[in-house]
Amino acid sequence: MLRRTAPAAVALAITMLLAAVSWQQIVVHEVAGLRLNEACPAEAPKQVLLSFDDRAHLADWVALAPELEAHGVKATFMLDRVTTMEAEDWANVDVLLAHGHVLGVHGEHHVGATASGLSPEAWVAQELLPSLEVMAERGLDVVALTMPRGDSTSAHEAAALDFVPRVRLTAGPPRDDVTPWASGCGDGPVHAAVSLDERRGGVDRWLPDVLDLRRAAGFGVVHAYGHSTGGEGVDVDALLAVVDESSAEGWRWVGYDALNAEV
Ligand SMILES: [Zn+2]
Repeated sequence: MLRRTAPAAVALAITMLLAAVSWQQIVVHEVAGLRLNEACPAEAPKQVLLSFDDRAHLADWVALAPELEAHGVKATFMLDRVTTMEAEDWANVDVLLAHGHVLGVHGEHHVGATASGLSPEAWVAQELLPSLEVMAERGLDVVALTMPRGDSTSAHEAAALDFVPRVRLTAGPPRDDVTPWASGCGDGPVHAAVSLDERRGGVDRWLPDVLDLRRAAGFGVVHAYGHSTGGEGVDVDALLAVVDESSAEGWRWVGYDALNAEV
């Protein structure tokens, strides 16, 4: 008799458990990558990839660069419209590099893949190659491309990956071919990222929850991005608080050049 009723009791317990799980918890589990098949090496990393988009915010980045360095963070700064950068802009870039940070590109005209109406190859020729040419002339490494406005397709990413090692997207709708905001091993060249901007809810909206879940798993690679600092942008004090807490627990804030390279 007991054998017949036990499955029913288990089913009831599962039903009650599911009812207790809020929708937000389900979403957070989804974005933390915990529903992925995580066949990672045993020594899987604990890495956070922090990046900033849009060089209109270079002055903010220059002010932030030493603070990040002092807290052990290597960030990746994504430059758009590289061919029109002037001496003052490059001087600001030198400051970022002097503090140990690395560079990516973010569209020569900041035009998204589908918005452009261009084929993948034509988009790469217009939005990526001119920027890369200037960076190469200056002897600067480009460690990633971030798609303008997160507007992308798999075909455009594949075309871009012939020229850059990594592509980062934004926190848009989930896609099957994109590694989520956080993932077990950080494998794959294309990654979505959680926003840190105040206008999207701020540093404390998603990142601490995602880190918590990865902390429970014991490993993971987490992607987060912002634009400006202060106001509607990234709350620097809140960010550095998360940096300090997570670093004390063994998380390493690395640039896209080091993604999953050291575990
Ligand atoms: Zn942008």
